[in-house]
Amino acid sequence: MKTVMKFGGTSVGDGTRIKHVARLIKAHVDAGHNTVVVTSAIGDTTDLLLDTARKASTSGNPDNIKKIIAELRTTHHKAIRDAFNSTIETSSAIEVIKEINSRLEEVEKALIGICYLGELTARSVDFISSFGERLAAPILSGALRTVGLNSKSFTGDEAGIVTTKDYGNALPLERTYSQVKERLGHLVEDWVPVVSGFIARCEDDTVTTLGRGGSDFTASIIGAAIGADEIWLWKDVPGIMTADPGVVPVARTLPTISYIEAMEMSYFGAKVLHPRAIEPAIRHGIPVRVKNTFQPESEGTLVVGEEEKRRDVVKAVSVINDVALINVSGAGMIGHIGVAARIFTALAEAGVNIMMISQGSSEANISLVVDDKHLDSAVRAIQTDFKNGIVRDITSDEKISVIGIVGSGMAGVPGVAGRTFNALGRAHINVIMISQGSSQHNISFAVAKDQSHDAVRALHREFELDKIKI
Ligand code: ASP
Ligand code: MG
Repeated sequence: MKTVMKFGGTSVGDGTRIKHVARLIKAHVDAGHNTVVVTSAIGDTTDLLLDTARKASTSGNPDNIKKIIAELRTTHHKAIRDAFNSTIETSSAIEVIKEINSRLEEVEKALIGICYLGELTARSVDFISSFGERLAAPILSGALRTVGLNSKSFTGDEAGIVTTKDYGNALPLERTYSQVKERLGHLVEDWVPVVSGFIARCEDDTVTTLGRGGSDFTASIIGAAIGADEIWLWKDVPGIMTADPGVVPVARTLPTISYIEAMEMSYFGAKVLHPRAIEPAIRHGIPVRVKNTFQPESEGTLVVGEEEKRRDVVKAVSVINDVALINVSGAGMIGHIGVAARIFTALAEAGVNIMMISQGSSEANISLVVDDKHLDSAVRAIQTDFKNGIVRDITSDEKISVIGIVGSGMAGVPGVAGRTFNALGRAHINVIMISQGSSQHNISFAVAKDQSHDAVRALHREFELDKIKI
C-alpha cells in the first residue's frame, strides 16, 4: 500500500514522542508499505514564533528575541538527543544539530530585522512561522535514520508544492501535483521522505503557508499527487467522535464517515479535519484515516467517498459556542425585494462571515448567526446601511450556542427533525432559531448557551450514538 502519514504538533511534541513516531513509521514500512511522511512543527513552536514576531514588531526588543531563540535551541536540541537515543556527540546527531542551528540563526536574523523595522507584513509572518516545520522535519528524518530507514527531509517547496501568493492561506497551483509526483513519486521500500507540512513557496519564490493546521493540507496534496491508497493523519485524538467527550463522556469514535459528513462536522466546530485540507483527497477519491498516535493499535476513523447505507441516520452532535445571533426585523421588509442582498453585502463589506441564516416566510425578520468577535461590526454595518425605513429593529444575543446534528443518512428520512425537537422539548430546552440546508446532511439550531451541553447530551441519547457500531 502507498500511504502518506502526517504527524501533528502534539504527536511530535518532544524527543520521546518523535522516537515513538519513528518506530510507528518503521513498523509500517516493515509491513511492506511505501510511505511519505509529513510533519508539523514540534508542539506549540508555530504559536511561539508568531507571538515573538508580533512582539518584535511592536516592542522592538532584540533581547527578547535572543531569549526565545535560546529557548527554541534548547527544546530542539533536547528533542534530537531524546529522539536519537544518543548523547549529542554521535555523528548523525551532530549533522542534524548543525542544520537546526543554522535555521535558528536565520529566523533570529529575520526577527531582529522585524524589530528594527517595526512592521510585520503578511509575507514576513509566513516566513517566520515556516520555521517550526523547517526545524521539525530534519529531526524526524534523522530519527528515522536511527531506526534503520533511509530518509531525507524536504521543505514543502522542495517537495514540489507551489502556491498562490495568499500569504497565510495559500492554495496549491495545479502544477504542484505533477511536480510532487516527479520528486517524491518513485517510492521504494526502506526510503522515507519526510516533508515539512504547512509551508510552501509561491511563484515569485517567497515562502507561503497553507493556513493554521495546514500540515493536513500538505499531506492531502502529496497523497493526491503520488496517488496514495490512503492518507493517515496522526493526531492526539482517537478519531472523529459522535460528540465532544468532554461534554458527553459516552461519546464514541466513528469507525467510518463520508467526506461530506466530515466537512459538515468541521463547520460545526469539530476541529479534527479542515474541509480545505481534505479537498485534494476528495477530488482524487483517496480515503483519509484519522489515527491517534498514543493509541496506534486502534483503527481511528476512516473518511471515505461513499459509505454503505447504515442504520444510523445521525452520526454526530456538535456545538459552536463563540457565536452571536442577530435579528433584523420590520414590517417594511415584507415583500421588499433586495433586503437580504443588502444585509449580506453590508456584512461582506465589513468582513463578517455569516454562519447560519434563517428567514420565516412572513419575511418580517431575518436571523443570522455570526462569530461573536464580529458582532459589533456586523450590527454597525446593518445599522449604517438601513438608516431609514424598511428595518425597524436590530437586536442581538451573545448568549447563544449553535448545535448541529450531522449525518448523510438523514437525507430523505422523515421524522429526524421531529425526534430532534421532541428530545429538546422533553429536556426543557427552548430552540431560538432553526436552519436546515436542502442537502439535508445536517440540522442546525440555536439554543441558550447555558443549555447547550444539555442539548448535546439529550440528542446524543435520543439517537443512541453511544451504541453506534464500532
Ligand atoms: N504548525 C502549523 C500550525 O500550528 C501547521 C500544523 O500544525 O498543521 O498551525
Ligand atoms: Mg501545530
